[in-house]
Amino acid sequence: MDNSIVRGVFLAFVRVHVLHHAAEGRIFGLEMIEELHRHGYTLSPGTLYPIFHSMVKAGYLRSADEVVNGKLRKYYEATAKGRRLLKQVKGKIRELLDEVIGD
Ligand SMILES: [Zn+2]
Repeated sequence: MDNSIVRGVFLAFVRVHVLHHAAEGRIFGLEMIEELHRHGYTLSPGTLYPIFHSMVKAGYLRSADEVVNGKLRKYYEATAKGRRLLKQVKGKIRELLDEVIGD
């Protein structure tokens, strides 16, 4: 199987995870990498940060800097647009779940 296709599918799942957690409360990179690891995804900051940035650029997340233990940390939170997208995506996930997994 084409590796780029596998990667594309998994990265889409990662975006959904990010949006879900960013809608529940603000998140930051390392925390999200650990959370995704818990779900079986191994991501480097070099993969996750461009995802954050593209989602900020598209208006789904907003970022805010905060100094934590003397270091600048970037927090991300879902915008109203991001929450609307999540709602749409949830409908698609439900539909997909019925189709692919069944009941
Ligand atoms: Zn999660």
